[in-house]
Amino acid sequence: MKQEQEKLKQEIQQRKEAEAILYQSRALISSILRSSLDGVAALEAVRNPKTGEIEDFRCLEVNPIIAEVFNQERENLIGKFIFRKFIDKIDPDLFAGFIRVVETGISLQKDFNYKYKEEQKWYSCIAVKLADGFAVTVRDITERKILELELNRLATIDGLTGVYNRPTFDKTLAQEWQRSQREKQPLSLILFDADYFKLYNDYYGHQAGDNCLVQIAQVASKMVKRPGDFVARYGGEEFVIILPNTDRQGAIAVAEGIRQAIEVLAIPHERSEVSPVVSVSMGIACVIPTTDSSPEILISMADRAMYKAKQQGRNLAIAYRT
Ligand code: GH3
Ligand code: MG
Ligand code: MG
Repeated sequence: MKQEQEKLKQEIQQRKEAEAILYQSRALISSILRSSLDGVAALEAVRNPKTGEIEDFRCLEVNPIIAEVFNQERENLIGKFIFRKFIDKIDPDLFAGFIRVVETGISLQKDFNYKYKEEQKWYSCIAVKLADGFAVTVRDITERKILELELNRLATIDGLTGVYNRPTFDKTLAQEWQRSQREKQPLSLILFDADYFKLYNDYYGHQAGDNCLVQIAQVASKMVKRPGDFVARYGGEEFVIILPNTDRQGAIAVAEGIRQAIEVLAIPHERSEVSPVVSVSMGIACVIPTTDSSPEILISMADRAMYKAKQQGRNLAIAYRT
């Protein structure tokens, strides 16, 4: 009898110790979670009892940062099945991504943006499989993302004139070529070049020359109206315009509009042999792209047309193929 009592006492003691250890480790984990600057959550799969498919995730643990991001009390998140509804609102692909983490064990890294208190925020999330669920950390990368987006934008722009640069033109033309080919729509290109520009620089100085190129680029940008129209600096004193879904007549109208608007700028050019003011020569090319030709065709057609325009007294020439 006494022996049994002794055993019971011992067991109670052991349990208390185990509970204390468990309590301490819980306290440790939650203090780590509380002090983390990243959002951290652990979720468990909620599976359909018949099919075994994951239907949602239940929050086992969330730290205050995640609760704050979702604008919820921690207590409202833990144990609730609202996860899918939340996630679908942020990014419809995320939920499927998390299922893949649980089913394959392969971690997921994904950036997503999310409107938080009227402010557009960027987060990077990493999900790692944890039992029949996953652990996720979410980091606010808004500052870095804004810088990155701005850098990417700057990399597409010509530093002097503010229109798109040559590499971006090459990429865009290839894309538009593909699209026009698929849709069997005409694609037009305008190439234009400032006349006697070497002499302009020699006479007025490079600073004035630069300034002139900026004004030409601004006029061209202002004169193209459709969202798909694209103005770039082709190189030096040459500019190029892509006009998707635009036929020959449309391209001529745009080109003529720009040519006249540049004349209206009335930038004096005493050394020019064709005009008292800065003028440009333009070549237009228009094709409905086919599989047996390439974007280079369009450029060389416009280039030849521009050369012809120069020869014929510096105005505007057209090369087209239908
Ligand atoms: P054409 O009428 O036949 O086009 O003769 P052009 O003098 O305009 O052409 P050319 O190709 O002989 O010379 C182009 C000149 O454009 C040379 C260069 O001084 C000027 N140029 C090219 N890029 C820039 C630039 O970024 N800034 C300035 N200021 N001038 C430039
Ligand atoms: Mg030139
Ligand atoms: Mg020139």
